[in-house]
Amino acid sequence: MKITRQKHAKKNVNFYKHNFRFREPYQVLLDGTFCQAALKNKIQIKEQLPKYLMGEVQLCTTGCVIKELESLGKELYGAKLIAQRFQVRSCAHFQSAVSGSACLLSMVADDNSHHYFIATQDQELSSAVKKFAGIPLMFIIQNTIVLDKPSPKSLAHVKALQSSQLFPEHQKHNIANLKSEQGIVRVTEHRGRKRKRVAGPNPLSCLKKKKKNPTTTPAPEQTKKKRKRKRNKPLVKPTPETA
Ligand SMILES: [Zn+2]
Repeated sequence: MKITRQKHAKKNVNFYKHNFRFREPYQVLLDGTFCQAALKNKIQIKEQLPKYLMGEVQLCTTGCVIKELESLGKELYGAKLIAQRFQVRSCAHFQSAVSGSACLLSMVADDNSHHYFIATQDQELSSAVKKFAGIPLMFIIQNTIVLDKPSPKSLAHVKALQSSQLFPEHQKHNIANLKSEQGIVRVTEHRGRKRKRVAGPNPLSCLKKKKKNPTTTPAPEQTKKKRKRKRNKPLVKPTPETA
């Protein structure tokens, strides 16, 4: 189970590395719900996440997430302690805090230029994140951390990119040029071969002449003419005589 789980994780991480330029240390933005789930399931995020993602990880959160956890009181005190150990990334809400989910969404909604992973148990935040391409989503299910498979939005984005990268306009021209160049090269090669083949019959005709020559006398043209005349005469003469 662990091996297949890690294989899936590696495959998914590679997807973001190759297609969205994710690099180590992986920036994982965690919210209060994820911290609470980790606490309940006795998951040591700091130890488990790097192992699962097979790379260096930078755990981070925002001031809004911590403020929200503080506002929720004793029940989420443990989660707040966990979140406080993470690096606090500056958000746009320094004047008036927003909900943790709204804050994390705002951190990634603008093309996710910081290459954040989002770690949350909040379904609304998850579905909102999936509407964007290139945002890896993590959650805890059955006592384990899971990196969600790339969303259809991410897959579609990559497909569109690949198709445009495979045949951009200037490459189309290059390919066309290459083909025509190769075609020309092939045509000239064929022509050369054909010419050589055409040139071939001449020596053959020479050989025929040579065969004829040795049987007859050395003077070629005169003997040929004579022979033809001789052949014609006897062939023509006997037929009328016999008839
Ligand atoms: Zn914020």
